[in-house]
Amino acid sequence: MDANPSGGVGDATPRTTRSSAPSSASARDELAQRVTELLVKHRWATVVPIVLPLSKGYDLVWRFRNVWMRNRQRAAHRHDERVRSVQSQIAAWNAAGRPGPLVTSRKSWQSVAVRALDYKKTSYGIEVDLHDVLEIDLERHVVRLEPRVNMGQLTALLAPMGLTVPVVPELDDLTAGGLLLGYGIESTSHRHGLFADTVLAAELVLADGSVVTCSRTERPDLFHALPWSYGALGFLTALELPLLPCKPFVRMTYEPVFGTDAIARRFEELVCSGDAPDHVEGLLYDRDRAVLLHGDFSDGPGGASDEPVDPIGRWYKPWFYKHVETALSRGAFTEYLPVRHWYHRHTRSLYWHGELLVPFGNHPLFRHTLGWLMPPKVSFMRLTQTKRIREYRDARNVVQDGLVPMRHLREGIDVFHELFECYPLWLCAHKTFRTKPPGMLQPSPDAGDDEMFVDIGAWQVPRKVRRGESWNGRDAVRKMEAWLRARNGVQCLYAVTEQTREEFWQMFDPTLYHEARRRYGAEGAFLDVFDKVKRPGR
Ligand SMILES: Cc1cc2nc3c(=O)[nH]c(=O)nc-3n(C[C@H](O)[C@H](O)[C@H](O)COP(=O)(O)OP(=O)(O)OC[C@H]3O[C@@H](n4cnc5c(N)ncnc54)[C@H](O)[C@@H]3O)c2cc1C
Repeated sequence: MDANPSGGVGDATPRTTRSSAPSSASARDELAQRVTELLVKHRWATVVPIVLPLSKGYDLVWRFRNVWMRNRQRAAHRHDERVRSVQSQIAAWNAAGRPGPLVTSRKSWQSVAVRALDYKKTSYGIEVDLHDVLEIDLERHVVRLEPRVNMGQLTALLAPMGLTVPVVPELDDLTAGGLLLGYGIESTSHRHGLFADTVLAAELVLADGSVVTCSRTERPDLFHALPWSYGALGFLTALELPLLPCKPFVRMTYEPVFGTDAIARRFEELVCSGDAPDHVEGLLYDRDRAVLLHGDFSDGPGGASDEPVDPIGRWYKPWFYKHVETALSRGAFTEYLPVRHWYHRHTRSLYWHGELLVPFGNHPLFRHTLGWLMPPKVSFMRLTQTKRIREYRDARNVVQDGLVPMRHLREGIDVFHELFECYPLWLCAHKTFRTKPPGMLQPSPDAGDDEMFVDIGAWQVPRKVRRGESWNGRDAVRKMEAWLRARNGVQCLYAVTEQTREEFWQMFDPTLYHEARRRYGAEGAFLDVFDKVKRPGR
């Protein structure tokens, strides 16, 4: 991989030239631009001494809080009380004549999404602080959660009990509510679909303050309208997920594949075969060099097996995508990974974003001394960056995922290369189901009851930027969006969409979303999904 050793996106930045008689405003601008370049180029100077310790401290406080609430405060028993608090806030909003659209009062910086959530400033915030696992029902094999339970919290509770949920999106901080109402995917999604497809039931507070539940059989219109709605239908207060037995290890094979055709063909073969492995993931290190990861849950090495156990999640171990990359030179290999290490394999290095924040973060010296502090919290990174830094970074970075039917993967690799040329490029397959009634994302019209899709994820500095060539990020994203629309694909909405409202509703099916908004009184009450995810000012 051609990572810029300084992580210096700023290296490629054309400097502002000084005019012969600069006005004081342009001199101030130039100074601000230079300071921004410096701050971005040496991001580690704030990340390592400030953001990392803050992140670790925050994590420890929350870990302690979760154990305390579960064991001492019996938080689960107070769920109804917390829901009543949401209801009474909505009653106050209704009584005040509905002053502004409803949103959660969760601070903009606390979300993992990369968008600036400017709409929060002009909306009416309701505190929906619901952080607890409510019930683990071993008879029904169901876990009931509040929406702000995150994936790290959930697997820490379930894995020691030999249990898991079908889809565990990798980053510890992703919340169950955000994953249902937005999107969530993982290496098991070729079997189970997106996170939302695995949800059994949901509980919401609507705009009139009533509490309703929904599932595939109870209010299916509301239930199937939830995924991708981004909170536009009501406040989610609980959800249920199925519990599956979970073995302590994953036996993982790292298979290098060379040539774009071969990569696309092999990936499709792996996920679409009748006996597909439990987990499949692909990392492309260039358009024609990839490592495909595939493996099954396992009890661990037994008998004469000489395949090692590799605790890849420990703080001193190489970052996971770097470890995977070694398969390109050493050839295929197989090892056993402790199951939570596998689930959260990309957390420590924030996939490959960590190298932009701490360019020496994968150096053995850093790993063995300060590696335990990683990763910086995405939310604290957001908190410590100014609007100018965000704009500067946005113009030189791509953070986008496109979901398209698997048959377009080969073409998609070329499209992403032409538009972004940034590596690693992430591949993760997911089954898309035709629901009744149909929601915002559906299989292609000519497909059957389900269709295999692939998520192509580009999150890096494009090589053009690294080479100092001009690159228009907004234009590239618009081209990606047009390509997705033409292929029955969709863009993931944690990122900014450059589409117009009309284009957005060509990409997603609007029918059920709008019907459910009307039927459940959300119109004029909750902020519309497009208004949340659009480029501000569009
Ligand atoms: C750095 C990064 C890494 C990521 N990694 C992964 C990954 O590994 N796997 C993956 O699948 N996805 C990943 N994503 C995308 C992620 O799935 C989405 O951002 C997702 O929506 C979850 O984010 P969140 O928990 O921060 O939810 P939020 O962004 O907080 O919530 C999503 C939306 O739902 C609304 N909402 C949340 N809770 C409620 C509620 N109780 N009631 C009503 N509305 C509510 C929010 O207002 C918001 O509009 C990543 C995104 C980023 C930026």
